[in-house]
Amino acid sequence: MINERAIAYFSMEIALHNGIPTYSGGLGILAGDMLKSAADLNVPMVAVTLLHEKGYFHQQLDENGNQLEQAVSWDPRKYLEPLPGTVNVEMEGRSVKIRAWKYELHGSRGFTIPVYFLDTNLGDNDPQDRSLTGQLYGGDARYRLCQEIILGIGGIRMLREMGHHAIKKYHMNEGHAGLAVLELLNEAHRQLNKPETDPETIESVRRQCVFTTHTPVAAGHDRFAPDLVRNILGEQEIIRLNGFHEGQNFDITRLALNLSGYINGVSRKHGNVARSMFPEYPVQSITNGVHSVTWTSEPFQKLYDIFLPGWRQDSFALRHALNIPKEAVWAAHLESKQVLLDLVNQNEKAGMDVPVFTIGFARRAALYKRADLLFHDIARLKKIATEVGPLQVIYAGKAHPQDREAKAIITKIFHSRRALKNHIKVIYLSNYDMEMGRLITAGVDLWLNNPVSPLEASGTSGMKACHNGVPQLSILDGWWAEGHMEGVTGWAIAQDGQPPAEGDDRNRDAAYLYHKLENVIIPMFYRDREKYINIMKHCIALNASFFNTQRMVQEYVTNAYLAL
Ligand SMILES: *Cc1c(COP(=O)(O)O)cnc(C)c1O
Repeated sequence: MINERAIAYFSMEIALHNGIPTYSGGLGILAGDMLKSAADLNVPMVAVTLLHEKGYFHQQLDENGNQLEQAVSWDPRKYLEPLPGTVNVEMEGRSVKIRAWKYELHGSRGFTIPVYFLDTNLGDNDPQDRSLTGQLYGGDARYRLCQEIILGIGGIRMLREMGHHAIKKYHMNEGHAGLAVLELLNEAHRQLNKPETDPETIESVRRQCVFTTHTPVAAGHDRFAPDLVRNILGEQEIIRLNGFHEGQNFDITRLALNLSGYINGVSRKHGNVARSMFPEYPVQSITNGVHSVTWTSEPFQKLYDIFLPGWRQDSFALRHALNIPKEAVWAAHLESKQVLLDLVNQNEKAGMDVPVFTIGFARRAALYKRADLLFHDIARLKKIATEVGPLQVIYAGKAHPQDREAKAIITKIFHSRRALKNHIKVIYLSNYDMEMGRLITAGVDLWLNNPVSPLEASGTSGMKACHNGVPQLSILDGWWAEGHMEGVTGWAIAQDGQPPAEGDDRNRDAAYLYHKLENVIIPMFYRDREKYINIMKHCIALNASFFNTQRMVQEYVTNAYLAL
C-alpha cells in the first residue's frame, strides 16, 4: 500500500523551497524542515497547506528603511502538480470548491512525502472565494477564518478525496489548523451516528489529534467574534455545544487544546510558559530543530562529508565535530563568510571586509524580537568598535504589512546606521527569504538574538548558525535556554551566575549585551582565535547534533504519534 499514510500534518505555511514563497517566517520553515526530516526517516506522513499563490509579500526598503510591499507572483506549475479531484466546503451559505496541487518531497533515502497545497481559484467559485487561497496572513478576520476553514475542514476532506483512509494521527501545527478537529467530529458523528457531544466520540477524536502551540504572544492565537463564525460556518451545533468559547470570542487554540490527546510547546521553557497559559491542559514540550543538510553551507557540507561521514543521513554524526582540525573549520567559515560579503558588497555597495568581526541578525521584524537593541547606546557601541576591535552588522527581516511598530523598528535601524557611519558598517538586506537565511546564518562570526523573555517560544535561526559553526550571543529564552553553555557554545545576554532575567528592560539587556561584546567576544575573536574556533566546534558538536529536525521528528514519533 504505497499510498498508506498514518500521520497527516496541517500547517498554514510550509517552506519547502525558495521558489515556493508560501511562508512568512519560523513557523513555515519549521514545518518544511520537519517534513524533510520525516521524509529522510521514512515516516509515513502527508501534509496539507494552502497554495498562497500571491505568497506573503516581496519587501523593498527605501533609503530611510520604509518598507514597501509588493505582491509576489510565482508559478505553481513550476514546482507542483495540479491534481484532478476536488472537494467542497460551505461558507456563508455558498459551496466553495477546492482543488489540490501536489509537491513530492524526496527524502535522503528515496522515500517521498506528498504535500497538498489547497487552491480555491477555480472558475466554478464565486469571485470572492477564488481569492481565498491567495495571500498568506493577508486580509481581515473574515478572510483568515475562511482560510482556516479551507485548511482544517477542506484539508480533511481533501485527504479522503486523495485516498488517505488509514490516517491515525492529525497533527495541527499551530491553531490555524484547529478546525480540522471540527471536521473529525463531524465525520465521527456521521459514521457512528451518535450525537457530537457523545463522550466516546469526543474521546476518539482526541486520541487522533496532536496540537503544537508555537507562541506565547497573544496575537498569535486566533480568536473570532461569534457573529463572524455564525455568518460563515452557520449554526454549527458543535461550536455552541462544546464550550470552546474563551470569553466572548471563538477561540481556535482552545478548540484544538480541548480535542487533542497530545499537546506540546516548542522548547522546554516554552512548555513551561504554555502550561501556565493553559493550566487545564497537559502541555508537553518537544524542542524545535532545523533540517541539517538544508541549513549547512556548501563549504561546511564538504567539510562534514570528509570528517563526519554519514552526517547527511544521521545528524547525530555532527557530534564528532570536535575531531575536525581547527584550520579546516576556519577555512570553511571564511569561505562561507566570503560568499555572504560578496553578496552584500555587490548588491548594497556595503564595502564590508572579511577580516572584520561580523554580527548577524535576521528574523521577522516583530516588536518583541527587539532588532534595534544593539543600537540602544550608540556612543557605547562606537567606543567598543574603536577601542576593542572593528565590527560590522548585517540585518534582514520583514515586518508584517499591518504591523506599524515592527516597521518602525526597521526605520530606526536605518537611522542608527546613519549615526554610526564612518564607525560601524551596518547593512539591512531587503526581502529576507530562505536563501538569504542560509547565507546570513553561515556567513557571520556571531549570531545575535535578543528577544523579550519569555516571548521567544523557540527560535530556529540560531540553530542554523550552529550548523555552520557560528556561535551566538542570546537572551536565555526559547531553545537557547537549553543550548547555552557559557563560553562553550556561545554566550548569554545575562548576568553570569544569576537566574535569567525576564521582561523588556532595555537598559539592563543592552548593558549585558555590550559587556559581553566588549570584554569577552570581540577580544577573543581578534586576540585568541584558537579559543574562538574551539567554541565554533562546540556549536556543531553539542548543538547542531541535537537541535535538528531528525531528533525532533523522532521525538514526535515516539512521544506523540505512537504514544496516544
Ligand atoms: C530561519 C528563518 C526564520 C526563523 O528565524 P527565527 O530566528 O526562528 O525567528 C524566519 N525567516 C526565514 C527566512 C528563515 O530562514
